[in-house]
Amino acid sequence: MDAVVVGAGMSGMYMLHKLRGMGLTVQVFEAGDGVGGTWYWNRYPGARVDVKSMDYSFSFDPELEQEWEWTEKYPPQEELRRYLNHVADRFDLRRDIQLETRVTEAGYQEDAQRWLVRTDRGDEVSAQYVVMATGCLSASKVPEVPGLEDFQGDWYHTGHWPEEGVDFTGQRLGVVGTGSSGVQAIPLLAHQAADLTVFQRTPNFVVPAHNHPIDPEHQRSVKANYAEHRRANRESAFGIAVPPPTKSALEASEEERNAYYARGWYDKDNQLVSLLAGYTDMITSKEANDTAAQYVRDRIAEIVKDPEVAAMLQPTDHPFGTKRPCLGTDYYETFNLPHVHLVNVRKTPIVEITPTGIRTSEREYEFDSIVFATGFDAMTGALTRIDIRGRDGVALADKWKEGPRTYLGVAVAGFPNLFTITGPGSPSVLSNMIVSIEQHVDWVADAIGALRTGGKATMEASAEAEDAWTRHVDEVGRTTLYPTANSWYMGSNVPGKPRVFLPYIGGVGPYRQKCDEVAANGYEGFVLSA
Ligand code: NAP
Repeated sequence: MDAVVVGAGMSGMYMLHKLRGMGLTVQVFEAGDGVGGTWYWNRYPGARVDVKSMDYSFSFDPELEQEWEWTEKYPPQEELRRYLNHVADRFDLRRDIQLETRVTEAGYQEDAQRWLVRTDRGDEVSAQYVVMATGCLSASKVPEVPGLEDFQGDWYHTGHWPEEGVDFTGQRLGVVGTGSSGVQAIPLLAHQAADLTVFQRTPNFVVPAHNHPIDPEHQRSVKANYAEHRRANRESAFGIAVPPPTKSALEASEEERNAYYARGWYDKDNQLVSLLAGYTDMITSKEANDTAAQYVRDRIAEIVKDPEVAAMLQPTDHPFGTKRPCLGTDYYETFNLPHVHLVNVRKTPIVEITPTGIRTSEREYEFDSIVFATGFDAMTGALTRIDIRGRDGVALADKWKEGPRTYLGVAVAGFPNLFTITGPGSPSVLSNMIVSIEQHVDWVADAIGALRTGGKATMEASAEAEDAWTRHVDEVGRTTLYPTANSWYMGSNVPGKPRVFLPYIGGVGPYRQKCDEVAANGYEGFVLSA
């Protein structure tokens, strides 16, 4: 093949479409038995995107974006999966996607200047280019506590939920984790379970989603001006165009600030970034950030009737936004229900899973089922779980032992012609993912096109360019409050993972400019070989 693409989520599907359009032969391998990536695997109750549908959709084909009709402000997983299946059919992608096949190895063969890719089904494919479209949040993890194999009930992870769904009616249910997945699932699980216990290690900031059917007039007006709408998103900081802030939160009066935060909290058209996007220093000044954090804590105290439970739900150990904030529907309200209980596992950690439930340092809880909403080995996990070996047989997992090193988050020195879509060191998870995915796929396709027209066999990030970019990602990260939190952005949720700020916070627009400059300067920082 000319190219192997690993993964048939949004990145892999679009990469296939692009490369095939350039006349390349492409083989896509996908572990699931369907396309859609994140929206294939995350089928837990309440799973929905928290970027508005009009923004969270492909922009590469004007007809596609005009013909698809969204139904809700934030589409549920089922609708996103339908959309991605539609994309697969519309662009006839399936014939080059091999499902139920996990890539296990990719090794660079120096003599041939090609990659040899192996799968768990015994495939062996030689390819000139390998594109890792493996997703930032796809390597799921359950807590490292003993005993799970002896649990006699059923257990589930939100990140690979059974296709047929699960009915917890009448059950005693335990849920571990209160990140975005837990926050979305808990209110719906509470409707089903007879008794629900939530194990919370860190309370999160949860802003009301105000999801609602999409206004047809709004949909029409965005579509009438879609090219401009998309351009603004591409040039924005987070891939969602919002008016740029002009002043510090500390320059505004308390009244003015609270009026602004109230719009972010109560307005039915609010979005994830609403509370954070109003002032210039929300992610750089703790004092400024505290004004919004306190606003949210006050709302929690208003909603949750039991003051002790309210206090447990109020985040105080990290600035607002430094762990991924969540959008919720009736999240805090759920803790007013008599059959819903909250356990602080920061205070009384989970020590083991027993045959009948969960034991904390304080007591044992008995359950019929357990749901782990415990997240992912983010950004690097999906890559390092594959045995990827570059020049001299060096393993990517070894190279990244002290933290990922990339050039632009898309290439790695020593790994020629290997590209990582939304890899560590790119804006990725700090942005509207689909905007970043399209930018990377377009850039990689252009780079491969340039290699072919220029008669070059390989491109490889130079060690100097990689060093400089890795330093830059770290330096920009350090100008913000992000490194002060224990978050998956910092790798802190995986024991032993180096503490490194994984994404690039320089902004989607400026990052795109930098990538375009690199290309315009003949792929500056890359070594191109004949
Ligand atoms: P997550 O944000 O990493 O949350 C995992 C939760 O499990 C955290 O509350 C974590 O506590 C807890 N946890 C992990 N290990 C634990 C242990 N050993 N004992 C007790 N608690 C433990 O994972 P997620 O909720 O699946 O979300 C991951 C990311 O996926 C999100 O941040 C978001 O980017 C994306 N996502 C997006 C959407 C959406 O668009 N709507 C929905 C779901 C997910 P600590 O905080 O203390 O580590």
